[in-house]
Amino acid sequence: MSKDYYKTLGVEKNATQEEIKAAYKKLAKKHHPDVNKDAGAADKFKEINEAAAVLGNPESRTRYDQYGTAEAGPDFSGFDFRDFAGGDFGDIFDQFFGGFGHGRQGRRAQAGRDLGTEVEITLQEAATGTTKKIPVDKLTSCTTCHGTGAASGKLEKCSQCNGQGVVRHARRTAFGVFATTSACTACAGTGETVSDPCKKCDGKGRVEEEKTIEIRIPAGIEDGMRLRVAGEGEAGLRGTRAGDLYVTVFVQEDKRFTRDGQDLYTDLPISFATACVGNDVEVPTIDGTVTLTIPAGTQGGTVFRVKGKGLPGLRGEGTGSLYVKTQIAVPKKLTKKQAELLKEFDGQTNDKKGWFF
Ligand SMILES: [Zn+2]
Ligand SMILES: [Zn+2]
Repeated sequence: MSKDYYKTLGVEKNATQEEIKAAYKKLAKKHHPDVNKDAGAADKFKEINEAAAVLGNPESRTRYDQYGTAEAGPDFSGFDFRDFAGGDFGDIFDQFFGGFGHGRQGRRAQAGRDLGTEVEITLQEAATGTTKKIPVDKLTSCTTCHGTGAASGKLEKCSQCNGQGVVRHARRTAFGVFATTSACTACAGTGETVSDPCKKCDGKGRVEEEKTIEIRIPAGIEDGMRLRVAGEGEAGLRGTRAGDLYVTVFVQEDKRFTRDGQDLYTDLPISFATACVGNDVEVPTIDGTVTLTIPAGTQGGTVFRVKGKGLPGLRGEGTGSLYVKTQIAVPKKLTKKQAELLKEFDGQTNDKKGWFF
C-alpha cells in the first residue's frame, strides 16, 4: 500500500463515514492554507483531501481496502468524492478542488451523473476476456436541439451569475475568511439560460433513451469487479461532460472448475488400474485438454499441478495453474473375468467371501 489514507486522517480501518468526515473536518481546518501559514501546510492539506476523497466514498473506499489503491488499473474507476461533499464541507472542497477527481472545473452542476449496471460472464470468458453489449437506460443529449435545450439552439448568458455558472461569497468563520463558491441556482451552474425551450426535451437538453453500450471485459477479471466506461453515464447538461458508466461483472460458477484468484482446481476420476500401474490421461482445461502422466502407485487425493493452465493476471502477472486432484473411481459393474482377476490380485479364493460379493 503506497499511502495509508487511514493514517493520514488518523482514523481506524473500521471507522464510520461520520468519523471519517469528522476527522477530515478537524484536520482540514487545522491545515487549511488560509489559517496555517507553515511551510508544507498546503501539501498536508492536499494529502488530507486526497485521503478524504477516497475514504469518504464507500465505493472507492472498498476498492482501496481491497487493492491498496483507489485506482485499481487503467480500466477501473478513480475516486469520486461527490457523495462526500455537501454543505459547508463541500464548500472547502469546491474552493480548492473544483476539478478534483474527475477534471471538473468550476461549473460542476452541469456534468452528467454516473450510472451503474451489471453483466454476467462465464468462467471461460473471464479467462480469455470478452466484449459484451449492455443495454442502458439513460439521459442522452437531445438531438433536436443538440443538447442546448433551446429550439433555436441559441442560449443566453445567465444574468444571475453573469455567465460564470458559479456565485462566490465570503464566509467569516472562527478560522478566518473563507471564500466559497456554489453553483448558480438560476442556470443550474451552466452559466446560460434558455428563452425558447426545445419541444422534444422540454428545454432540458436531454432525453431518456435506451442505448446499447459495448464493453470490453479484460482477461483475468474476478467476480464482483467493477469496470468504468468513461462518458457513458448520463449526458451532461447542454452538451457538457457526461457521467461515467460503472459495470459490475459477475463470473458464473463453473461445473468443472473452482477458482481461487488465478488458479483453477478440478477433480479427476482415474481407474483403480491407472492408479496402480500408471497411465497417460486427458485432463480438461479451461481452453481444451492436456495429457497428464499418472505415475504408478498414485493414491486418491493426489494433487498434480499443471502450470500455465489457470487464468491470466489482470495486471500483466503470469498465468496461474490448474490443480488436478485424483479420485479413484470404483467400477460399479465388473465382468466375471475382471472380478476373478481382481480376486486373484487381492489373494482371495473362490470359496471365500470377498469384498465384491
Ligand atoms: Zn431538445
Ligand atoms: Zn447563472
